[in-house]
Amino acid sequence: MHEMSLAEGVLRILEEQAAAQNFVRVKTVWLEIGELSHVDPDAIRFCFDAVVKDTLADGAALDIVRVPGQAWCHDCARGVAVSTLTEPCPHCGGHKLLVTGGEEMRVSELEVE
Ligand SMILES: [Zn+2]
Repeated sequence: MHEMSLAEGVLRILEEQAAAQNFVRVKTVWLEIGELSHVDPDAIRFCFDAVVKDTLADGAALDIVRVPGQAWCHDCARGVAVSTLTEPCPHCGGHKLLVTGGEEMRVSELEVE
């Protein structure tokens, strides 16, 4: 499952941060998931709970923040909001869109002790 390897990637980030910043427990993880990223928040939550068992983040809360899709329209010369990669510009109906945000998934904040 795609989300399982993503959850393992999150755990690796937590372990790297723990080594760099000398904390031993992670209590809350804020995870930003772009609307264009094809990551299912329910699946990632399920996988995260499984992956962190018996690690520094065992029982940690996962707070998922959805990040809206953003694109640049060449015809309008402005940034627009999009919810899928295939939809046209909401202003001019054109397809000359360059996605500029909402495709990524990242750990934005940690609560640790
Ligand atoms: Zn446009």
